[in-house]
Amino acid sequence: MPWTYDPTNIFARILRGEIPNKTVMETPHTLVFHDIRHLAPVHVLVIPKGAYVSLDHFAAEASGDEIVDFHRTLAKVCAMLDLSGPEGFRGITNAGHHGMQEVPHYHLHILGGRVLGRLVEPA
Ligand code: AMP
Repeated sequence: MPWTYDPTNIFARILRGEIPNKTVMETPHTLVFHDIRHLAPVHVLVIPKGAYVSLDHFAAEASGDEIVDFHRTLAKVCAMLDLSGPEGFRGITNAGHHGMQEVPHYHLHILGGRVLGRLVEPA
């Protein structure tokens, strides 16, 4: 398997309760909390509680319960934060070196509350 999970990463430490976070929603399989460096009026991170490095790792190896819970929680958070209407939001996930992933625990950024510009600058 190409994925090696580093249990010392900062989100693993948040999940173990070793460092604080500003929780938005929590379920048995998923945690949603505010990004510490918010890049938009709304900037939250949706993470699975399981030890997955990236989206492809989660999609390949998480259980059906984990995958459903993650996405249902994401939908509830979008509704709760008023992102589900026509104004919308952006969901971003970075993976690996090219994706410039900083924290090697799968997380989906949810950004909203302003027009966010184009997704990627041309090279
Ligand atoms: P990425 O570059 O996609 O790996 O994004 C990692 C994100 O984690 C960045 O947006 C950071 O601001 C955020 N982050 C890092 N440490 C914390 C923390 N302790 N609490 C909340 N967000 C954090």
